[in-house]
Amino acid sequence: MKQLISILSFIVIFQTSCAAQKGYWQQHVNYKMEIDMNTEKNQFTGEQELVYTNNSPDDLNKVYYHLYYNAFQPGSMMDVRSRTIADPDPRVGDRILYLKDNEIGYHKIKSLTQNGKALKYKVVGTILEVELAEPIKAGKKATFKMSFESQVPVQIRRTGRDNQEGIDYSMTQWYPKMCEYDKDGWHANPYIGREFYGVWGDFDVKITIDKDYLIGGTGYVQNPQEVGKGYEDKSKKMKTQKGDANKLTWHFVAPQVHDFAWAADTDFTQDTTLLDNGTLLRFIYIKDTLVDRWNKLKPKAKQSFEFVNENFGEYPYKQYSIIQGGDGGMEYPMCTLITSHSSLNSLISVTVHESIHSWFQGLLATNESKYPWMDEGFTTFAQYKVMDHLKNGGSINPLARQYGGYKRLVEAKRQEPLTTHADFYKSNGVYGSNAYSKGAILVMQLGGVIGEDALMRGMKTYFDKWHFKHPTPQDFKRVMEKEADMELDWYFEQFVETTNTIDYSIESVEDKNGKTSVTLARKGDMPMPLDVVVKFKDGSLKWYYIPMRIMRNNKGSDIYEIERVNKKAWPWVYPEYEMIIDAPKSQIEAIQIDPSTRMADVNLKNNTYPKETAKKSVIFQGE
Ligand SMILES: [Zn+2]
Repeated sequence: MKQLISILSFIVIFQTSCAAQKGYWQQHVNYKMEIDMNTEKNQFTGEQELVYTNNSPDDLNKVYYHLYYNAFQPGSMMDVRSRTIADPDPRVGDRILYLKDNEIGYHKIKSLTQNGKALKYKVVGTILEVELAEPIKAGKKATFKMSFESQVPVQIRRTGRDNQEGIDYSMTQWYPKMCEYDKDGWHANPYIGREFYGVWGDFDVKITIDKDYLIGGTGYVQNPQEVGKGYEDKSKKMKTQKGDANKLTWHFVAPQVHDFAWAADTDFTQDTTLLDNGTLLRFIYIKDTLVDRWNKLKPKAKQSFEFVNENFGEYPYKQYSIIQGGDGGMEYPMCTLITSHSSLNSLISVTVHESIHSWFQGLLATNESKYPWMDEGFTTFAQYKVMDHLKNGGSINPLARQYGGYKRLVEAKRQEPLTTHADFYKSNGVYGSNAYSKGAILVMQLGGVIGEDALMRGMKTYFDKWHFKHPTPQDFKRVMEKEADMELDWYFEQFVETTNTIDYSIESVEDKNGKTSVTLARKGDMPMPLDVVVKFKDGSLKWYYIPMRIMRNNKGSDIYEIERVNKKAWPWVYPEYEMIIDAPKSQIEAIQIDPSTRMADVNLKNNTYPKETAKKSVIFQGE
C-alpha cells in the first residue's frame, strides 16, 4: 500500500512540477573530476571535465568559476572582511592574515579549454573570469576541460585540513565550481565566508588517496568492494587491490545535486541506520570516547528524517551521511559535516538542523546569498518543529527563543530588512538574527495568517513544485497564496522588504447595551489579522477572528479547537477597531490577542485584559 501511494504521489508531483512554472529554466552541469591527493603536502592535482548546458534564452560570452580556496590567503576579501567587521566570527578572526605558505589554500589553474580550444582566463581573488572562445548559444552545450593544482588550507572556516577535532580533511568548497547564471544574471559572488548558490547537475568524482583513509561525502560509492570500510556489500567477497599499492581510488557518483563535498580521515569508522522507506543514514566519525554520544544520535536522526519526510516532502536520495568534520555544522548535498565535542543535545540539534537543509537549499535550492532567510529561516522553523516532536510535542510555540532574539534586535534598533544580501549585512549578529530567527518567524507567523493547515499543506506543495529547482520568495508567496486562497503581497512586502514591526493592543473593554465593546488598536506600522481569544467566567473559551480587508479572504482551520466567531474585516488604515462580544463585561474573565504567540508583536504587555494579570498567556497554560 505504501508503495502504491508513493507511486501515485510521484505521478501527481511529476505532473504538477511540469505544469507549474511556464517559462522557468535553469542551467545544467555535468562534472567529471579526477583528484590525486598528496597527503604529505596537503595538495592535490585535479582534472575536471564539465559539460555545461545553457538552458537560458541568452547567448553567453563569458563564464565564471568559484575558486573558494583562494579566500584563505592573507589580504583576501574574506580576510579583510573578517578583520574589519564589528563582530568577527571567532573561528576566523585574523587567522587568515597569519597563514604560512604551507597553510594557505589555493587553486592554480594550469589549463582550460572550451570544446578543445584554449581559453583566456584571469584569477580575480576567489573568482575565475573566463572569456569564451565562442559564445554558448541559448539551448547549446559546451565542454570545458580544466587542469588544476590545489592546496588544502589549514581549517579556518568550514573547509580545510586538521580541524579542531583532529579530522584530517574537511573537503568542502574544494574544487573550481561554475557560478550560477539565472534569470537575474550571473552570481559570481566573491567568497567572504558566507553563503552559496550552485548549478544543478550530476557529479562523477574519483578521488585517489592513501589507502588508509576512509571517505564520506556527497554521492554513492561506485566501487564499494574495492574501498571496503563499511561501504562493501558484505555478501560479496573483497576484490584484491590493483595498481599503486599505497593508494586507493574512490569513485563517487551524485545525481541531481548542486555541490559535492567530502571528508577523509585515517581513523574514521562508519555505522549505518536504515529508515523504513529505504534511505540509508551513514554515520562517519572517529570512534573514540564519544562513541556513546554517536550511538544516541542514531535513533534521533532517524526520527527526524521520518518527521520531515512526512511533513515537508520526501527526501529523494537513497543515502545521507552525517560526517564528523568542519567547524560546527554545515550542510551539503546528501551529507553534513559536523563537530561532536560540545554536547549530545547540540549534536542532535545541529544534526537535525543540517539534515533539514537537505530540503531547504539542498533540494529547494534558493540563492542563499540573496535570500539567506529562505534556507536558514525555513530550516530553523522545521528544526524546532522536529525538536518539539523529539520531546513528544505539545509546545505552543517551539520558536519562542527566535521570537525573543528578533525582539531584542528591534529594541536595539539594529534591524536591517530581510532583503539584505548576506554578504552586505553590517554585522554577523544582525545577519544571524535575521536569517535564522526572523526567517523562521516569517513561516511560523504565516501559519497564524493563513491557518496552520494551509501552511503545512503549502510547505509540501512548495516542495513538490520546486525541489530540484531554484525557487524565489515570489514563488514561495504564490504557493501560499494559492493554498490559502488569499492575497499575501502585504505580508511579504512588510515583513521581508521593510523593518516595520507589529504591535496591537487592547485599549479598552466597556459595557455596551448588555454586550461588551472591546477597542483594539494598531500601534505598529505592519498590519496583521488578529485572533482574539476570550475566556468567560464559566470557563468557556471563544475565538474571535478579525481578518484584514487586504487579504480578500478569511483563513481556514487553525490550531484553536474552540468555537470561532468570524468578525468583519479590518481595513488596516483604521488605527482602531471595535470588537463586540455577545455577553456583558461581568461574564468575561480574560481577553488575549494571539494567545498562540505566533504573531511577532513587539510589545506583549498591551495584549491582554485585564492588564494586571498580563502574563505571557492568560488563556492557555503551559509553555
Ligand atoms: Zn543552517
